[in-house]
Amino acid sequence: MSEARNVIIIGSGPAGLTAAIYAARANLKPVVFEGLQPGGQLTITTDVENYPGFPEGIMGPELMDKMRAQSERFGSEHHFEFVDKVDLSERPFKLWVGDKTYLAETLILATGASARLLGLEGEDQVMGRGLSACATCDGFFYTGKEVLVVGGGDSAMEEATFLTRFCTKVTLVHRRDSFRASKIMQQRALDNPKVEVVWNEAVVAYLTDDEGQLNGVTLENSLTGERRDMATDGLFLAIGHIPNTGFLDNQVRTDDAGYVLLESETSTNIEGVFACGDVADTRYRQAVTAAGTGCAAALDAERWLEDNGIGHG
Ligand code: NAP
Repeated sequence: MSEARNVIIIGSGPAGLTAAIYAARANLKPVVFEGLQPGGQLTITTDVENYPGFPEGIMGPELMDKMRAQSERFGSEHHFEFVDKVDLSERPFKLWVGDKTYLAETLILATGASARLLGLEGEDQVMGRGLSACATCDGFFYTGKEVLVVGGGDSAMEEATFLTRFCTKVTLVHRRDSFRASKIMQQRALDNPKVEVVWNEAVVAYLTDDEGQLNGVTLENSLTGERRDMATDGLFLAIGHIPNTGFLDNQVRTDDAGYVLLESETSTNIEGVFACGDVADTRYRQAVTAAGTGCAAALDAERWLEDNGIGHG
């Protein structure tokens, strides 16, 4: 096991990489574990139109590559690996990454959140074979096809609208009789002639052909309990996200949904452990707010190291 690092950052979305930029510029030589989706959720989007400084918009993966390059310029160290577990019971904190272990004086949690799935039987088998949780990644494969989108939030509206670029028909399936999405996003989806809505129905089973490709779903009416099958070429889930905090094994205080609870600013219940971005944000969940809290977490970690007389090494 090597010597303890000043700052280890787990996660590589806008929060983690902004924390890396700030910690690197403070000469703390941060180590970033980027995980299995380097760049985070922005790498599975297309145009980012609301990140300040890019009046024409910028592609999500390009924005994340620029953030990484910016922090590397100041000496951050990046590993494209997944942190399996941590021991936060004593300092320095211990991290297990595959067959290696690392020690950290401070830890910045920036692991974000992942797409929620329905949890129905056979889900793993149809994922990527007619089932997707990312329209921007997979929409192209459904050119000329008819698809379903499950959900009633902004993501569902955005994905349904996006899919009309490729698909001949997009049916939004929602379990209630009204959308929670913002009015403007709803209107954009509903005004699109290719979008139809099925209200008060939930997907309760995946149907497949002989080759295991999804070719339909069973829907259950949430008012009457009545069931019916509906054929489709593809199904996109847009039903929210789950925070990536499982690897913490309840050592950091979270809310019931698993989002990290902050004690003050970016501090968690464990001294020296900070959190930023979507993993601790149930309210804003924007790239720019994640970057802002990433900056704050790095500054808080830097101050904590200084207060505890731990050098820049
Ligand atoms: P969300 O707002 O939590 O909406 C999730 C939707 O999925 C809800 O309509 C929910 O139904 C439905 N749902 C959840 N679990 C389900 C299940 N098991 N079966 C069927 N339906 C289920 O999530 P989101 O749309 O991903 O948005 C998350 C946040 O990001 C929001 O704050 C949103 O405003 C923001 N966002 C913004 C933009 C943008 O501005 N460009 C784009 C995307 C997201 P109920 O309504 O019945 O609960």
